[in-house]
Amino acid sequence: MADVTPDDILKMLATVNDPDRGGNIVSLNMIAGLQVKDGHVAFGIEVDPERGPKLEPLRKEAEDKVHAMPGVLTVTAVLTAERRPRAQPVAGEGAPSGSPGSQADGPSPQGAQHLSLPGIKNIIAVASGKGGVGKSTTTVNLALALAAQGHKVGVLDADIYGPSIPRMLGIQGKPTSEDGKTLQPMENHGVKCMSMGFLVEEETPMIWRGPMATGALEQLLRDVAWGDLDVLVVDMPPGTGDIHLSMAQRVPITGVVIVSTPQDIALIDARKGLNMFRKVDVPVLGIVENMSYFACPHCGERTDIFSHGGAEIEAQRLEIEFLGAIPLDIKIRETSDGGAPIVTSQPDSEHAQAYLAIADRVWSQILELQSSSAAAPNIVIQ
Ligand code: ADP
Repeated sequence: MADVTPDDILKMLATVNDPDRGGNIVSLNMIAGLQVKDGHVAFGIEVDPERGPKLEPLRKEAEDKVHAMPGVLTVTAVLTAERRPRAQPVAGEGAPSGSPGSQADGPSPQGAQHLSLPGIKNIIAVASGKGGVGKSTTTVNLALALAAQGHKVGVLDADIYGPSIPRMLGIQGKPTSEDGKTLQPMENHGVKCMSMGFLVEEETPMIWRGPMATGALEQLLRDVAWGDLDVLVVDMPPGTGDIHLSMAQRVPITGVVIVSTPQDIALIDARKGLNMFRKVDVPVLGIVENMSYFACPHCGERTDIFSHGGAEIEAQRLEIEFLGAIPLDIKIRETSDGGAPIVTSQPDSEHAQAYLAIADRVWSQILELQSSSAAAPNIVIQ
């Protein structure tokens, strides 16, 4: 396949005209952060924030033209502005946006179109208020537990700030494409996997990662041959900012699992996250308390180093499901960082059983949502 270069891309982009400013988007210096890596292209189109909503056709034209070039596998084009207006989520009326089985194109309560993903029955987003709480570790073990229970499972690593899922699943190399347009997901331990890490250079400046995230996520959902999945587990970027809002508005998320450590500060963040997802009408499936207590590798004794149980009390207060507690144990770290998470490598261990119990609860929540969404619209808490 021909190697596509940044110059080739710019030549193509120079055929896209800005309707208001009279000129093409390259000569008007609107292209920023162009990245080309193994046929994966990403760039921003800088626009005045006021014009943003109107310029979707321009973004689409640029994306489509580049996508049609030989040697281009995926394209992520995003409209960016220095002063990006904050999304204003409002509680909507009508059908719940993230209900199971609703993966068809259709307006979300905020008016944004949801992607059409006919093969993917459910999408679970795993989120946390901040980084380093074990969100990715929970994602892989939850995904493997769901697979062990007989579901067809995919894992999508959308943590643009620290994509670690392929490493945790023991996956090496790069995804390939049979037709030059659709990427084949990677696979190990019986689950399919794609990661933003495959598309973004490690040196990509942090400032570009946020604006790229939503477009890249859409691409990883749309242009990957996922096949039929019962559930796609998405490792979200940490935090609860604009990226999460736009993802929640574009991607038909069935529900969110929040991961938190017992420390109060993390819980405050988790609470912020919770309110954000509720505002955009995405059901919260529950909260997992990670690093809940310390399990001594020598004597097996349990020590509550943090105020263990904080997440459970908080879950009760917020009236959301407490999905389970996972201890701080070196076996969990070694197995996931080594590419064979504890659910696959030590399936009979106490910790693997804890993840399996969490998976059970998550699945029951999904089934419950399916039956209630068939009967009644979601209640939105503002
Ligand atoms: P996040 O995705 O929230 O940034 P990670 O899942 O990457 O967090 O976890 C950060 C580090 O903590 C990793 O090295 C991981 O192996 C380790 N870790 C996560 N959960 C546990 C746990 N329950 N016990 C021991 N180590 C853990």
